[in-house]
Amino acid sequence: MDQLNQAKKGKVFLVGAGPGDPELITSKAISLIKSCDTLVFDHLANSEFRKYASSKAEQINVGKSPGRHTVDQDQICEILVTKAQEGKNVVRLKGGDPFVFGRCAEEMIALDKAHIPYEIVPGVTAALACAAYAGIPLSHRDYGSSISFLTGHEDIEKESLRVDFGKFGEVGGTLCVYMGMGKISEITSKLLKGGLQENKPAAIVSHGTLPSQKKIITTLGKLVDDANKANLKTPAIIFVGNSIGLSTKQNWFENRPLFGKRIVVTRPEGQISRLKKMLENRGAKVLELPLIKIIPQEDRKLITETFAGIATYEWIVFTSANGAREFFKIFFKAFSDIRSFGPMRIACVGEATAKVIRSFNLEVELIPEKSTAEDLAKELVATESLDSANVLVIVGNRNRDVLVGLLESVGHAIVDTLPIYQTDFADVIDCPDRSDFVKNGADAVVFASSSAALSFIEQEEDLYLENSAIKPIFCSLGPQTSKTLKENELSVDLESEDSSLESMVDALVNFYS
Ligand code: SAH
Repeated sequence: MDQLNQAKKGKVFLVGAGPGDPELITSKAISLIKSCDTLVFDHLANSEFRKYASSKAEQINVGKSPGRHTVDQDQICEILVTKAQEGKNVVRLKGGDPFVFGRCAEEMIALDKAHIPYEIVPGVTAALACAAYAGIPLSHRDYGSSISFLTGHEDIEKESLRVDFGKFGEVGGTLCVYMGMGKISEITSKLLKGGLQENKPAAIVSHGTLPSQKKIITTLGKLVDDANKANLKTPAIIFVGNSIGLSTKQNWFENRPLFGKRIVVTRPEGQISRLKKMLENRGAKVLELPLIKIIPQEDRKLITETFAGIATYEWIVFTSANGAREFFKIFFKAFSDIRSFGPMRIACVGEATAKVIRSFNLEVELIPEKSTAEDLAKELVATESLDSANVLVIVGNRNRDVLVGLLESVGHAIVDTLPIYQTDFADVIDCPDRSDFVKNGADAVVFASSSAALSFIEQEEDLYLENSAIKPIFCSLGPQTSKTLKENELSVDLESEDSSLESMVDALVNFYS
């Protein structure tokens, strides 16, 4: 950020975004995106990064995309110059590394000419990333002592081969060919003519580092046939060289248990990231459809009254992780010392909620075996501590009547409720991943709450899958959610064991292995 603040007039940052995996961007790139005024991006840079930009930042797409005319290089240079002259701090985000076949030089020259200051931030280039994620070594003491980066096109628009591949056949070592798929037959025959043997190890990695990654490991003689059979899509890198033959069967990236599975996460925005990360670490492609939103509900008077009497409660009952989070946010606004919380016992509906409580170094005395309101009430009653006891139940706007009813009628407790947040259906129509879901479908949809399930049902028309789309299985985070799905005639194909995100992920991993 400091770099940006130093710039009084506009400045341009030519930034590498890495090959696709959102974790392969540098932290310098992220902090620049976060603080820029204008973000200029193209199709190779993962769209995920646009989320880092502030809502005030202008975003300009200069990449090729269907139905939109392409912005040529001169126009891109002009955009960079004009925006900087307007005093903007501009991040020009490019796939991979800006200097590797990224036309960064042209942009530098244009900025120089216009006396506009710039900085360059390197990125992980596709060849290195694809090699690593496909487990293909590029060098070895005995089998490969040079690595060449070549281009199959001089630039994406030009069709002719500029590189003399025959000569590189003589040079040998490890060859990494960018943009070579369109000319793969010509390239292989020139390499063979140049002296490479048919049995020279060769490979192709397409969509490297993404959940759609595919690779073939073969020989130069069979490269074209094998590429056709595997129906590899661009972008792809071609590798040729002896060290490629050292790649092992371990296949670390593609063998992850959820590799390539498309999984829809429906939690409210802001709460998706932990589940998303867990699924992505296991190889899944996560689609985000936040079906519900959490609206904090602060009834000042009720909160003040409840907090004034907080020490009189014998039990405090949390019915959701959201409720627990919101409760402590408000609690710490009112009190700075956790001792103000009092000596009451704490009950939680499930592990996820208990985790929030434990994060404040508080013990949880009761978690029912099954995470439902009924089981929570039954187990509380079974403690035989409720008769005439003051009990505080922290609730949202759903599923509270059953619990409170049982505590009062069966347990004879004196129950106060503190409604602390409201769950509302969120419109899916504006979700960026909705059209991808409708067009291509998904392998699984994960429902973390009854409200999410109900919101899905309410918005079924907007989520109606096209005929060719993959039909997902439905996964539920607990018995309550499963009940809601079944009541609405949706199948429950998977239910997590203890309502935690971890056990949901385990269930998915078991299902797919
Ligand atoms: N500056 C980029 C390269 C731009 S040229 C970099 O440093 O990576 C575009 C070419 O890069 C594509 O045609 C393809 O050959 C390669 N490429 C980019 N991303 C890729 C990916 N995820 N998997 C395989 N190849 C990729």
